[in-house]
Amino acid sequence: MSKKLTSRADDYSKWYNELVVKADLAENSAVRGCMVIKPYGYAIWEKMQAELDKMFKETGHQNAYFPLFVPKSLFEAEEKNAEGFAKECAIVTHYRLQNDPDKTGKLRVDPEAKLEEELIIRPTSEAIIWNTYRGWIQSYRDLPLLINQWANVVRWEMRTRLFLRTAEFLWQEGHTAHETKAEAIAETQQMNQVYATFVENFMAIPVIQGVKTESERFAGAEDTYCIEALMQDGKALQAGTSHFLGQNFAKAFDVKFANKEGKQDYVWATSWGVSTRLMGALIMTHSDDNGLVLPPSLAPNQVVIVPIYKSDEQLEAITNVVNGIMNDLRGNDITVKFDNRTTHRPGAKFAQHELQGVPLRIAIGARDLENGTVELARRDTLTKETVELSNLTEIVKGLMTEIQDSLYNKALDYRNNHITEVDTFDEFKTVLETKAGFISAHWDGTAETEDKIKELTKATIRCIPLDSKDEDGVCVYSGNPSERRVLFAKAY
Ligand code: AMP
Repeated sequence: MSKKLTSRADDYSKWYNELVVKADLAENSAVRGCMVIKPYGYAIWEKMQAELDKMFKETGHQNAYFPLFVPKSLFEAEEKNAEGFAKECAIVTHYRLQNDPDKTGKLRVDPEAKLEEELIIRPTSEAIIWNTYRGWIQSYRDLPLLINQWANVVRWEMRTRLFLRTAEFLWQEGHTAHETKAEAIAETQQMNQVYATFVENFMAIPVIQGVKTESERFAGAEDTYCIEALMQDGKALQAGTSHFLGQNFAKAFDVKFANKEGKQDYVWATSWGVSTRLMGALIMTHSDDNGLVLPPSLAPNQVVIVPIYKSDEQLEAITNVVNGIMNDLRGNDITVKFDNRTTHRPGAKFAQHELQGVPLRIAIGARDLENGTVELARRDTLTKETVELSNLTEIVKGLMTEIQDSLYNKALDYRNNHITEVDTFDEFKTVLETKAGFISAHWDGTAETEDKIKELTKATIRCIPLDSKDEDGVCVYSGNPSERRVLFAKAY
């Protein structure tokens, strides 16, 4: 087993990068900014996908798939969206290679094979989808149209970090069309709530729901709702977004429908997405200096069983008991793996499962067989206890819930202790430097003030919380009147 991880206190960012690689979640690839997601990391992502997919279907959505390429003329149609993404687009210009006449064995782009129209690799799919929806929507009977797509997208990010910000990432993007503005806004809010429920209940990460300011809004949206989480280093992370797109895309792509009065009207739109960035959120919320800590609902293996034996006979006797334990646990929907590899010693196995965040470890040896007991070790608290074999399944079931709740509560305590109200700019700067976290402060509502604060402190307005109350005050920076507090933070 490789050396210990750098500690969070020594270098948080190094700790994160080492953990992602050593826990076998992902690694950098030969392509700048693009990662390889390894089987263990992908298994966690698949669990997220499965749960989200279920939630999308329960709220009436269906999956479909649209092309990776967007013809440039379509990409340009919604101007604000195009302008917002233009600086981070990958573009396909040619479709063939040929042998390089000068260098044998090398290939070059065939200058004859230039595309008539350049293709943009989707940074988001509104353009291609809305161009398609024009053919799907004629009347109010075709609405609402509730579609989701699981896909990869490409945004040519300059500063990338494994999972948190990559040039290619995996995500889902919902794209819906509605008869009325009110329905589209309700859908936007509903999906933001779906994200909040998923992240809190399954990932055990508390989030703040809010709306973005104009400068942080999705390009082409009228309103962007979001969920914001707080990482253990006091930095915020945007964990999901849900956009109310008004009639902008319907107008750009001429998507009209005959309403109930028989009149032609533009449809109302939403889009919403979460990405593999959620893996980063998961890692940075719960993990510790020993490695990954996984909430039971997302752990590929909730329980791992390690046999401690000296002879083949002992292993055989242990295996018989373990088979019974596994049957029982699986019958109770608990995922369990028997780590009976003969190539590794128990100590190495313990270290690996700790690094990979398996919520519960069961160790069972010859003495346990005699006593009818096993040793249980919790990954989150690093505590161990010896329990009776006869009660094992009930105890494990109880612990699954307890660990899930305890991780959430720990993260919630941390988050709540890191929301600081400030009323002066000096306090603002001090809190940011000493404690970090969210800063709740009055803001005058202008982009100039927002920019100035960002320039001076690197903190941005994460959101205007949905539950923020009307409160008369003065802006921390300009002193101008303000009607409510907003949340600032340094963010990933
Ligand atoms: P957006 O379409 O910009 O609203 O983003 C949708 C979701 O993808 C949000 O949850 C973002 O935080 C996330 N996201 C945006 N850019 C990246 C990136 N480069 N890598 C990973 N996730 C991203």
